[in-house]
Amino acid sequence: MSRVYNFSAGPAVLPEEVLTEAASEMLDYRGSGMSVMEMSHRSKVYDTIIKDAERDLRELMSIPDNYKVLFLQGGASQQFAAVPMNLMKNKKAGYIITGQWAKKAYQEAKLYGEAVELASSADETFSYIPDCSNLAVTDDMDYVYICENNTIYGTKFQTLPDTKGKDLVADVSSCFLSEPVDVSKYGVIYGGVQKNIGPAGVVIAIIREDLIGDDVLSGTPTMLKWKTQADNDSLYNTPPCYGIYICGKVFRWIKKMGGLAAMKEHNEKKAKILYDFLDGSALFRGTVRKEDRSLMNVPFVTGNEELDAKFVKEAAAAGFVNLKGHRSVGGMRASIYNAMPIAGVEKLVDFMKKFEEENA
Ligand SMILES: *Cc1c(COP(=O)(O)O)cnc(C)c1O
Repeated sequence: MSRVYNFSAGPAVLPEEVLTEAASEMLDYRGSGMSVMEMSHRSKVYDTIIKDAERDLRELMSIPDNYKVLFLQGGASQQFAAVPMNLMKNKKAGYIITGQWAKKAYQEAKLYGEAVELASSADETFSYIPDCSNLAVTDDMDYVYICENNTIYGTKFQTLPDTKGKDLVADVSSCFLSEPVDVSKYGVIYGGVQKNIGPAGVVIAIIREDLIGDDVLSGTPTMLKWKTQADNDSLYNTPPCYGIYICGKVFRWIKKMGGLAAMKEHNEKKAKILYDFLDGSALFRGTVRKEDRSLMNVPFVTGNEELDAKFVKEAAAAGFVNLKGHRSVGGMRASIYNAMPIAGVEKLVDFMKKFEEENA
């Protein structure tokens, strides 16, 4: 067996310990005589799996009691529609456009009501987070929406926008569980788990209870109504059982690592190694305004497309894979999620130094 250092933006690296444990339980989950893939979601044994997962997530994020945790499907993209369907009572909401995912959510919301662009960093290819200290939030807006960590461009909100009292809805797909979070500052936090938590197929939504109700846009499908899922503890229909089971293992792994404060420290250490190198390099440079840099996704370029392509190819041959930047921006991107070990980043930087010397 030989495992690579996988810098994919998602689906992404998972803790090796979690994979090993899942493998050991593959044929017989704890005396049940079957794989978790084969068991009824209504069984007692599965009930324990999903309840434990929720309990551990609540503990990790200190989720207040007046928030529901939903395990959903459809990807983060499905929530681009579910958010307005469930929240647009006045059919108006503010969106902050900091990249492609925020823009997609904004465009989707326009199908259901008036989505207002409150701020944008499109003018500089989303390489920064716009000033959100005095947004033109109006009284009739139902919520303010952000994509907290911009997976493609490598920016992150270091401070949350001033929503002027409106509920904040945040897509945290690529920074989920990467650092401590004050859940009470949000109305809704949601994200696909395939970036930082588990296998594709699960979306976790953490929603303040008063935002979950029957008063949704007419025509909202039963499955997209949060209340349906909340009333049934995410078991209205068959949930992504195996994915949730792996998420549960990752929650336990994070707890064992010391929780979200320890995760943040670990992530800051890794990001610093890479950013410090980029800042001192004569060949490579980061593409994002320093104060807005993400701890999770680190885009960089050489300034020469051919050299970028050569780097990506040689890095892959050396065991550092998926370093090609998103197709919309080019260059390189190293995604260094929770499960990426420090050694992976150190070795990548060693490889970059060598590449720099050889291509000076
Ligand atoms: C990957 C990603 C998405 C899309 O997720 P899907 O699960 O593929 O729909 C949305 N938002 C962010 C921030 C992402 O990183």
